[in-house]
Amino acid sequence: MLDKRSGKIVVVSHCILNVHSLEENLAVYPGLEEEVVNLLIKKGAGIYQIPCPEVELAGIFRKPLPKESYDHPKIRKVYNKLAGSITKTLSWYKKKDYKIVAVLGAEGSPTCGIDFMGRWKENIKGKKEFPRDIEFVSGMGVFMEEFKTSLNKTKIHPDWIGIPGKSLRSLKPEIFAEILNKLDNII
Ligand code: SF4
Repeated sequence: MLDKRSGKIVVVSHCILNVHSLEENLAVYPGLEEEVVNLLIKKGAGIYQIPCPEVELAGIFRKPLPKESYDHPKIRKVYNKLAGSITKTLSWYKKKDYKIVAVLGAEGSPTCGIDFMGRWKENIKGKKEFPRDIEFVSGMGVFMEEFKTSLNKTKIHPDWIGIPGKSLRSLKPEIFAEILNKLDNII
Protein backbone atom coordinates (compact mmCIF):
# COMPACT_ATOMS: atom_id res chain seq x y z
CA MET A 1 0.00 0.00 0.00
CA LEU A 2 1.23 3.50 -0.82
CA ASP A 3 -0.50 5.11 2.13
CA LYS A 4 -1.82 4.08 5.53
CA ARG A 5 -4.73 1.90 4.40
CA SER A 6 -4.66 -1.68 5.69
CA GLY A 7 -6.22 -3.33 2.63
CA LYS A 8 -8.66 -5.15 4.92
CA ILE A 9 -12.40 -4.78 4.48
CA VAL A 10 -15.16 -6.24 6.62
CA VAL A 11 -18.69 -6.40 5.22
CA VAL A 12 -21.39 -5.92 7.85
CA SER A 13 -25.14 -6.26 8.12
CA HIS A 14 -26.73 -2.82 8.28
CA CYS A 15 -27.93 -2.99 11.91
CA ILE A 16 -24.39 -3.59 13.20
CA LEU A 17 -23.71 0.07 12.35
CA ASN A 18 -27.26 1.34 12.76
CA VAL A 19 -29.59 -0.34 15.24
CA HIS A 20 -32.49 1.79 13.97
CA SER A 21 -33.06 -0.65 11.12
CA LEU A 22 -34.07 -3.34 13.66
CA GLU A 23 -37.67 -4.14 14.53
CA GLU A 24 -39.00 -2.74 17.84
CA ASN A 25 -37.56 -4.09 21.09
CA LEU A 26 -34.51 -5.78 19.53
CA ALA A 27 -31.76 -3.16 19.98
CA VAL A 28 -29.15 -3.67 22.72
CA TYR A 29 -27.24 -0.44 21.92
CA PRO A 30 -28.35 3.17 21.42
CA GLY A 31 -26.69 3.50 18.04
CA LEU A 32 -24.39 0.69 16.92
CA GLU A 33 -22.69 -2.53 18.06
CA GLU A 34 -19.99 -0.85 20.09
CA GLU A 35 -17.65 -3.75 20.90
CA VAL A 36 -17.68 -5.00 17.31
CA VAL A 37 -16.98 -1.54 15.89
CA ASN A 38 -14.22 -0.88 18.45
CA LEU A 39 -12.57 -4.14 17.45
CA LEU A 40 -12.73 -3.24 13.74
CA ILE A 41 -11.20 0.18 14.51
CA LYS A 42 -8.42 -1.48 16.53
CA LYS A 43 -7.70 -3.86 13.65
CA GLY A 44 -7.68 -1.09 11.06
CA ALA A 45 -10.38 -2.68 8.92
CA GLY A 46 -12.54 -0.70 6.52
CA ILE A 47 -16.27 -1.33 6.92
CA TYR A 48 -18.69 -1.93 4.05
CA GLN A 49 -22.30 -1.63 5.28
CA ILE A 50 -24.94 -3.71 3.48
CA PRO A 51 -28.31 -1.91 3.11
CA CYS A 52 -30.88 -3.54 5.41
CA PRO A 53 -32.63 -6.09 3.13
CA GLU A 54 -35.83 -6.08 5.21
CA VAL A 55 -36.13 -2.29 5.25
CA GLU A 56 -35.58 -2.22 1.47
CA LEU A 57 -38.28 -4.88 1.12
CA ALA A 58 -40.85 -4.16 3.81
CA GLY A 59 -40.00 -0.77 5.32
CA ILE A 60 -39.30 0.39 8.84
CA PHE A 61 -42.61 -0.50 10.57
CA ARG A 62 -42.41 -4.26 9.94
CA LYS A 63 -42.87 -6.86 12.68
CA PRO A 64 -40.22 -9.48 13.58
CA LEU A 65 -40.94 -12.68 11.67
CA PRO A 66 -39.29 -16.11 11.23
CA LYS A 67 -37.46 -17.36 8.14
CA GLU A 68 -40.57 -19.01 6.64
CA SER A 69 -42.10 -15.57 6.15
CA TYR A 70 -39.16 -14.39 4.03
CA ASP A 71 -38.34 -17.59 2.17
CA HIS A 72 -40.40 -16.85 -0.92
CA PRO A 73 -39.31 -16.75 -4.62
CA LYS A 74 -40.35 -13.10 -5.03
CA ILE A 75 -38.39 -12.05 -1.94
CA ARG A 76 -35.40 -14.13 -3.02
CA LYS A 77 -35.47 -12.30 -6.35
CA VAL A 78 -35.23 -8.91 -4.58
CA TYR A 79 -32.48 -10.17 -2.27
CA ASN A 80 -30.63 -11.80 -5.16
CA LYS A 81 -30.55 -8.46 -7.00
CA LEU A 82 -29.22 -6.66 -3.92
CA ALA A 83 -26.62 -9.39 -3.37
CA GLY A 84 -25.50 -9.16 -7.00
CA SER A 85 -25.05 -5.41 -6.80
CA ILE A 86 -22.94 -5.67 -3.60
CA THR A 87 -20.87 -8.49 -5.11
CA LYS A 88 -20.15 -6.30 -8.13
CA THR A 89 -18.88 -3.49 -5.89
CA LEU A 90 -16.78 -5.85 -3.77
CA SER A 91 -15.24 -7.27 -6.94
CA TRP A 92 -13.75 -3.82 -7.62
CA TYR A 93 -12.03 -3.90 -4.24
CA LYS A 94 -10.80 -7.39 -4.97
CA LYS A 95 -9.30 -6.17 -8.28
CA LYS A 96 -7.22 -3.74 -6.22
CA ASP A 97 -5.97 -6.65 -4.11
CA TYR A 98 -7.85 -5.58 -1.01
CA LYS A 99 -8.94 -8.47 1.15
CA ILE A 100 -12.60 -8.96 2.01
CA VAL A 101 -11.77 -10.52 5.34
CA ALA A 102 -15.19 -11.30 6.74
CA VAL A 103 -18.92 -10.89 6.37
CA LEU A 104 -20.59 -10.12 9.70
CA GLY A 105 -24.24 -11.06 9.76
CA ALA A 106 -26.85 -10.72 12.49
CA GLU A 107 -27.09 -14.14 14.10
CA GLY A 108 -30.61 -15.45 14.56
CA SER A 109 -32.11 -13.15 11.92
CA PRO A 110 -34.33 -14.82 9.28
CA THR A 111 -32.62 -12.56 6.75
CA CYS A 112 -29.04 -11.98 7.96
CA GLY A 113 -28.31 -15.01 10.19
CA ILE A 114 -25.09 -16.88 9.43
CA ASP A 115 -25.15 -20.10 11.48
CA PHE A 116 -28.53 -19.72 13.17
CA MET A 117 -31.89 -18.40 12.16
CA GLY A 118 -35.27 -18.15 13.84
CA ARG A 119 -38.26 -20.25 12.79
CA TRP A 120 -41.65 -21.05 14.29
CA LYS A 121 -41.63 -23.88 16.84
CA GLU A 122 -43.49 -26.95 15.65
CA ASN A 123 -46.97 -27.89 16.88
CA ILE A 124 -47.98 -24.41 18.04
CA LYS A 125 -51.73 -24.33 18.56
CA GLY A 126 -53.63 -21.10 18.04
CA LYS A 127 -52.11 -17.75 17.07
CA LYS A 128 -48.31 -17.74 16.87
CA GLU A 129 -46.50 -14.98 18.76
CA PHE A 130 -42.99 -13.56 18.48
CA PRO A 131 -40.68 -14.22 20.36
CA ARG A 132 -42.62 -16.76 22.46
CA ASP A 133 -43.09 -19.24 19.62
CA ILE A 134 -39.71 -18.85 17.91
CA GLU A 135 -36.79 -21.27 18.13
CA PHE A 136 -33.26 -20.85 16.81
CA VAL A 137 -31.96 -23.65 14.60
CA SER A 138 -28.92 -24.17 12.37
CA GLY A 139 -29.22 -22.39 9.06
CA MET A 140 -28.58 -19.15 7.23
CA GLY A 141 -30.93 -16.21 6.71
CA VAL A 142 -32.51 -15.77 3.28
CA PHE A 143 -30.48 -12.73 2.21
CA MET A 144 -27.19 -14.25 3.40
CA GLU A 145 -27.92 -17.41 1.40
CA GLU A 146 -28.35 -15.32 -1.73
CA PHE A 147 -25.27 -13.22 -0.91
CA LYS A 148 -23.07 -16.26 -0.27
CA THR A 149 -24.16 -17.86 -3.56
CA SER A 150 -23.36 -14.60 -5.34
CA LEU A 151 -19.91 -14.18 -3.71
CA ASN A 152 -19.05 -17.84 -4.37
CA LYS A 153 -19.21 -17.06 -8.10
CA THR A 154 -16.29 -14.65 -7.62
CA LYS A 155 -12.93 -15.36 -6.05
CA ILE A 156 -13.98 -13.62 -2.84
CA HIS A 157 -14.00 -16.05 0.07
CA PRO A 158 -14.50 -14.25 3.40
CA ASP A 159 -15.08 -15.78 6.80
CA TRP A 160 -18.79 -15.73 7.62
CA ILE A 161 -19.46 -14.70 11.20
CA GLY A 162 -22.79 -14.13 12.94
CA ILE A 163 -22.98 -11.41 15.60
CA PRO A 164 -25.60 -12.67 18.05
CA GLY A 165 -28.64 -10.44 18.52
CA LYS A 166 -30.69 -9.75 21.65
CA SER A 167 -32.66 -13.02 21.70
CA LEU A 168 -29.64 -15.30 21.18
CA ARG A 169 -27.56 -13.40 23.76
CA SER A 170 -30.28 -13.85 26.36
CA LEU A 171 -30.47 -17.59 25.64
CA LYS A 172 -26.66 -18.09 25.53
CA PRO A 173 -24.86 -15.21 27.31
CA GLU A 174 -21.34 -16.55 26.62
CA ILE A 175 -21.85 -16.55 22.85
CA PHE A 176 -21.04 -12.86 22.29
CA ALA A 177 -17.59 -13.02 23.95
CA GLU A 178 -16.79 -16.19 21.97
CA ILE A 179 -17.68 -14.51 18.68
CA LEU A 180 -15.66 -11.37 19.50
CA ASN A 181 -12.68 -13.58 20.28
CA LYS A 182 -13.10 -15.41 16.97
CA LEU A 183 -13.31 -12.12 15.11
CA ASP A 184 -10.17 -10.83 16.85
CA ASN A 185 -8.26 -13.90 15.64
CA ILE A 186 -9.50 -13.64 12.05
CA ILE A 187 -8.94 -9.96 11.23
S1 SF4 B 1 -30.59 -8.39 10.68
FE1 SF4 B 1 -30.53 -7.80 8.54
S2 SF4 B 1 -32.66 -7.52 8.00
FE2 SF4 B 1 -32.56 -7.47 10.22
S3 SF4 B 1 -32.30 -5.33 10.76
FE3 SF4 B 1 -30.27 -6.19 10.60
S4 SF4 B 1 -29.67 -5.74 8.51
FE4 SF4 B 1 -31.88 -5.52 8.61
